[in-house]
Amino acid sequence: MNEITVLPPNVSKAEFARAIAEYRKILGNHNVIVDMERLAPYKKIMVPNPEQQHAPAGALIAESVEQVQAVLAVCSKYRIPVWPISTGKNFGYGTAAPAVPGQMVLDLKRMNKILEFDPVLGTVLLEPGVTYQQLQTYIDERNLPFWIAGPGAGSLVGPVGQSLERGIGYTPYGDHFAHSCGMEVVLASGEVLRTGSGGITNTKAWQSHKYGYGPVLDGLFSQSNFGIVTKLGLWLMPAPATYKPFLVAFANHEDIGKAVEITQQLRLKGVIQNTAVIGHALYALAWFARRADIYTEPGSVTDEWLTNFLKPKRLPVWGVNAALYGSEERVAADWKTVIEAFKDSGGMLLTQEQLGGDPAWEHGKGLMAGRLDMVEYGLYNWRGGGGSAWFAPVMQARGFEALKTMRLGKSILAEYGFDFMGGYMVNPRDMTLVIDLLFDRSNPAELQKAHECFGRLIREFGAQGYGVYRTNIAFMEQVADIYGPVKKIVNQRIKRALDPKGIIAPGKSGIRI
Ligand code: ADP
Repeated sequence: MNEITVLPPNVSKAEFARAIAEYRKILGNHNVIVDMERLAPYKKIMVPNPEQQHAPAGALIAESVEQVQAVLAVCSKYRIPVWPISTGKNFGYGTAAPAVPGQMVLDLKRMNKILEFDPVLGTVLLEPGVTYQQLQTYIDERNLPFWIAGPGAGSLVGPVGQSLERGIGYTPYGDHFAHSCGMEVVLASGEVLRTGSGGITNTKAWQSHKYGYGPVLDGLFSQSNFGIVTKLGLWLMPAPATYKPFLVAFANHEDIGKAVEITQQLRLKGVIQNTAVIGHALYALAWFARRADIYTEPGSVTDEWLTNFLKPKRLPVWGVNAALYGSEERVAADWKTVIEAFKDSGGMLLTQEQLGGDPAWEHGKGLMAGRLDMVEYGLYNWRGGGGSAWFAPVMQARGFEALKTMRLGKSILAEYGFDFMGGYMVNPRDMTLVIDLLFDRSNPAELQKAHECFGRLIREFGAQGYGVYRTNIAFMEQVADIYGPVKKIVNQRIKRALDPKGIIAPGKSGIRI
């Protein structure tokens, strides 16, 4: 046991050794990881905190529901916390590491079966370790007429982690949590709860009818630490007869207000059915370029520099990425509405004919059809050094909100010398500004600056009434505070009722017993 550097809180070395022996009996020696070398991937983080603050005590690889139950019994006996992960990528939100140190990462990636696929209803039942690539391959091999709603993070991540974190995809089924249906959850007690209709013996409706009877419980298990999800139902989008992606190019920074107003109305009326992304030029540039190769001035990239850089290349500052889906007739009619809506906006409407072959367009076009690629990983070369933290405030989908949050975000980032890289994900009534705070983790001063900057972003946006929809493991407590004391206390009461010893993911979303 001399490998251990971090013990679970209030657990002695001798007790931990006994617990490890019990985990090994359940999972086999190889699936209980305490040596530093094999633990390294579970420790590595991108967020702006030193690794030590999120160091796991070890990792456990479970391959069945029964093993998860047995692991929880040992955790309960020794009061050892576990941090469940599905595919464990969670890039820029914490990777596989826990919110507070000394937890055993419970790795479910080997539970990776696609258990059911109903081609009439478009429903699937998945284990946590299934990746988007696996689901796509399954569909392709059987030539099934369905699309997945892959996230920007591409093929490596999975629908279960994404849905539980309420992540974003870019097809009309892009709200991942909204398109989930039916969960199986192992509670801290070891009991197995099936939500929705799942508790009915012989039900066939678990993946097609969400609500069941009485309170709807599914939300309790998203972004929470109230249970460990071991199965999740998902709805898939039928492949449309016609798909027409388009881009509306805006040349000025302040055009974002107009772009949001027009896009929101088209979303509200159902003309644009997918999560429309109004992407900022710097974000798309960073997929393919290194900062040091194009920007040599001190401080953050300025609006003026960016305008001058983009103009000769005839590239826009903002691009509305959206698409039309449906029958040929419907898409033709919707296209007329889109042309009309943007005609006096100053934005230039572009399609495959003008943009085909452009790498940023090809990525967006694929994304809005749920296709997977690795293009967005280029972001990590922008500055290099492996630091990334997503700041994702949510607001009304209104033009003035876009202008206000763009200015606020840019001014805070600029104070610390970081760049504004991101975009607005526009829904019918709300939108999320997603900014990737990129920094060099290997430089301690920059790591510290990134930490301060991220805290400021949360605080200052919070003071203006903007919460974030999700956050990384370093800031969960701070974000929970924005949503008010009563929400926090209620979360804690539920936690105490379901997990009185606090063994599942303490600190997740700021919730502890
Ligand atoms: P992805 O690899 O798709 O990005 P992860 O597997 O890293 O997603 O999951 C993201 C986060 O969601 C985890 O850090 C954890 O807090 C939570 N989570 C993931 N899977 C489960 C699960 N099966 N049960 C409970 N919470 C989970």
